Amino acid sequence: MKETLFSNLASLCDKLARTTRRNEKIELISDFLCGLEEEEIAPAVTQIIGIIFPEAERGSLEIGYSTLKQILERKEKQTTLLPVPLTILSVRMYFDEISASRGTGSRQKRQNLLESLLGEASPLEATYLVKMIFGEMQHGVSEGLMIEAIASAARIDPELVMRANMLLGDIGEVARLALIEGDSGLRRIDLQLFRPIKPMLAEMAYSIGEIFKEGKRWAFEYKFDGARIQIHKKNEETRIFSRRLSDVTLSLPEIVELSGKFKVGEAVFEGEVIAIKNGKPLPFQELMRRFRRIQEVEKVRKEIPVKLYLFDILYIEGTTTIDMPYEKRWNLLASICPALLAERKISQDVSDVEDFLNRALAKGHEGLMAKAMDSPYTPGKRGKKWFKIKPAETLDLVIVAADWGYGRRTGWLSNYYLGAIKEEGDFDIIGKTFKGLTDQGFKNITQRLLSLKISETKSTVYVRPEIVVEVAFTEIQRSPTYKSGFALRFARITRIREDKSHMDADTINRVKEVYEKQFKRKGQSGINPG
Ligand code: AMP
Repeated sequence: MKETLFSNLASLCDKLARTTRRNEKIELISDFLCGLEEEEIAPAVTQIIGIIFPEAERGSLEIGYSTLKQILERKEKQTTLLPVPLTILSVRMYFDEISASRGTGSRQKRQNLLESLLGEASPLEATYLVKMIFGEMQHGVSEGLMIEAIASAARIDPELVMRANMLLGDIGEVARLALIEGDSGLRRIDLQLFRPIKPMLAEMAYSIGEIFKEGKRWAFEYKFDGARIQIHKKNEETRIFSRRLSDVTLSLPEIVELSGKFKVGEAVFEGEVIAIKNGKPLPFQELMRRFRRIQEVEKVRKEIPVKLYLFDILYIEGTTTIDMPYEKRWNLLASICPALLAERKISQDVSDVEDFLNRALAKGHEGLMAKAMDSPYTPGKRGKKWFKIKPAETLDLVIVAADWGYGRRTGWLSNYYLGAIKEEGDFDIIGKTFKGLTDQGFKNITQRLLSLKISETKSTVYVRPEIVVEVAFTEIQRSPTYKSGFALRFARITRIREDKSHMDADTINRVKEVYEKQFKRKGQSGINPG
């Protein structure tokens, strides 16, 4: 087999960065994929879109910008005598070794591996390797575009490629199957136990009336303020996955015990765990302590008891149920675990639903979720099938920089620049805030921000955009202050979204939508005061 050189992939990326035309990008990638050997397809795809390390793993690799900068500086001074050209497969092997190194001395080992990888790279290759490591390719190739490129290379319906990707959650493997086995290879894919799929997402609704305008029949469930989990059960064995698909089984022993009692052999459930004390939900931050302190899980288990509410079932006894309508899935779920179902009301009447919302809020929950009775479960997708209804207006934004505080806040990074996702993976600032955190919160976040530092001036530290915060505000205004043209009024951090990655943050488009909807809402007796 003749291995494809990594330099070909790097120049493909360079070409992709030079064109803004979607069709041209699709054609470039599609042609490239068609020229690869079977073993090269999956690594090439993940390298092109820059997801070489699973999202959940990237942070724990502890490869900082400063480490990389040092390596690159040393590299400039060295001259390699007999360079062995990198190939797609050799790069893949380096990356595998880097993510496999764990435990004592692993930091140094990773650094050595990176050093020899970059030592073998040409300047263009090194540029793209670094971009891959940080998952910021800046050439405008989203997962959606890659799916179209795979479909075009394999001459398959993009919808089928998308479904396979939703179920497998491994776009490299999907590409390999599509190109090698074609249509029938993709049709064979089903949900697999212990392999989590991305959760279905909800759109924000600004009034209950707006939901009914969609012209469907709706069910409303309490929206619990906790952590979403996917429970995979096969007879005696249970594994639990977080919203970001990491395995959190060890943090939730009581949920494992509980699932052991479900009267079903094989199944995948979805639900929300919340922390409770004296029957009342505790703030989300409390629950997050459960996920951070694995060593003392037995102790924390007593301090922060959790309660599980189930709201979906995705697989049962060998059958994937995601294409079934919501109501049918709910009935299946109800037949297995009736005692754990989320509180629910089926109603097509605004004032009825308002009462139900008020009841949810009075019990300390976050709001309601509206679900279309006939809707299938679409993993990883946001559509008009699920709506969330929350009384306060919030956006999930990413901290991109922070100012040093003064007075009482001297020594802390305490004023945060908040970014929303711009079209191609970078962030536009839409506001700044120093409100909402406790003193301890300021201290913690200062440390984390310093570890993400890219550059700094006397007053400001610029960071890698990784920390996602939920920000409440009263209004979005048009403003020349920031390049985005928007500014938040009275912004305040309501919590740190440890469960979300920077890629899950809200987009500028979303900010624009919220801005526009404000006008429609004003003067109505909406559910969003403020
Ligand atoms: P958000 O995180 O604000 O985008 O809201 C969506 C999240 O609400 C989901 O990811 C779940 O974690 C959570 N949630 C709480 N209750 C429900 C429910 N009954 N159905 C679906 N999601 C729920």
